[in-house]
Amino acid sequence: MIMDSIVLQSNSIMQNSTNQELIACHECDALQRVGRLPPGCVAHCICCGGRLYSNPKGGLDTPLALSISTLILFLVANVYPLMTLNVAGQSKDTTLTGAAWAFYQAHMPELAAVVWLTSVVTPALIICSNLYILACLRFRLRLPGVRTLLVWVTRLQPWGMMDVFMLGILVSLVKLSGMAEVKLGAGLYAFIALIFFFTASAARFEPHLLWQRLGARK
Ligand SMILES: [Zn+2]
Repeated sequence: MIMDSIVLQSNSIMQNSTNQELIACHECDALQRVGRLPPGCVAHCICCGGRLYSNPKGGLDTPLALSISTLILFLVANVYPLMTLNVAGQSKDTTLTGAAWAFYQAHMPELAAVVWLTSVVTPALIICSNLYILACLRFRLRLPGVRTLLVWVTRLQPWGMMDVFMLGILVSLVKLSGMAEVKLGAGLYAFIALIFFFTASAARFEPHLLWQRLGARK
């Protein structure tokens, strides 16, 4: 599979030297020339076999649809409660931001800030930036800040840690189930779906292809 892609890459170079680009492999730093990929193909490093970039079928429609779905799920997960606790006749529910606020009220402001930034603020910035960039390129809109956002969104990606937050929720669910009655809220179901859509959206977001489209738009 890898060898096929490398052969395809070599053929592209031979067939059209004007479309070649220099790309550094993220795994071994080898600098190599890569031709433009046809839809559905993946380019691999000729030295270590690492993935350079891909050109998925469907163009920008699939990543745009995934980004819109991710934004809707993100809004639902933040508006509706994750869970409701019933203890001694008293019930209390919490949202994503409410969970961070609980840490702040427990005199742990640093932890509250980390939880809020990595599970609410950063994912919101990534989702909105992806949507803005993809919509501008898909509908050929000449709105400002696309290049700057594309630079920053790739730097922000490692700081979106909703999956870590999900693990924390699961652990707390197991512990709390023996102490109180726990009712799962609509926010939690949306949050679980959000993690899958967020990951799928990130997997279909190809910065290299987006830079190619931005370059061709000059
Ligand atoms: Zn490599």
